[in-house]
Amino acid sequence: MNSLQNRRFVRPRKKLIETLRKKGIKDERVLQAIGTIPRHKLVDTALHNKAYHDTALPIGMGQTISQPYTVAAQTELLEIIKGEKILEIGTGSGYQCMVLCELGADVYSVERHSKLYHRAKEALREFGYKAMLKVGDGTLGWSAYAPYDGIVVTAGAPVVPEDLVKQLNIGGRLVIPVGDDEKQMMMRITRVSENEYKQEEFNHFKFVPLIGEKGWGE
Ligand code: SAM
Repeated sequence: MNSLQNRRFVRPRKKLIETLRKKGIKDERVLQAIGTIPRHKLVDTALHNKAYHDTALPIGMGQTISQPYTVAAQTELLEIIKGEKILEIGTGSGYQCMVLCELGADVYSVERHSKLYHRAKEALREFGYKAMLKVGDGTLGWSAYAPYDGIVVTAGAPVVPEDLVKQLNIGGRLVIPVGDDEKQMMMRITRVSENEYKQEEFNHFKFVPLIGEKGWGE
């Protein structure tokens, strides 16, 4: 039954990878990671037929599992080398977290909703992924394990939280969508030296808000 269930998703998953390729995702490791993860198991069964569409889907608490293209684009911008320490802000369903694990990163992830944290933790365990998760305000980063080689923020921020740039290693990259509640510019900030940062801007995206002390208010 399970293998029959899984076989049903093989073609839609392949189609999704082709869609991402057409939209400009080039990193084969990222495409392979997305092609490996059973996204349908991270959403309600009523949404299984849409699990491999390139769209965000609801996961409860007013939150979403990010659109696969967004996950792929953010992961590509992180330019992860196997074994690097990566912090994710906004664990949500655990999908992005799993993609980071597939790339061989040492993953840390913070989620503000404890219900989502528990669900993601269980999903990661079930699929055999190892990551450190916690409930907290990710706008403050996770100082206990800093510095990080990469930080990815999966919710839209009004400004770049200072604590996050400070928790980057020299050479570390912060990938973060910044803007208002309508749209956000994907930014990559690289810590070039102790006090120097390089800032790059990419495309516009639309995320749920980053809520916290250094983000949006409740
Ligand atoms: N990475 C998630 C995934 O793959 O499913 C995307 C989840 S959703 C687009 C963004 C998440 O960020 C939500 O789960 C939301 O609760 C969380 N979030 C928002 N503000 C946060 C904060 N300050 N700290 C931690 N998580 C936050």
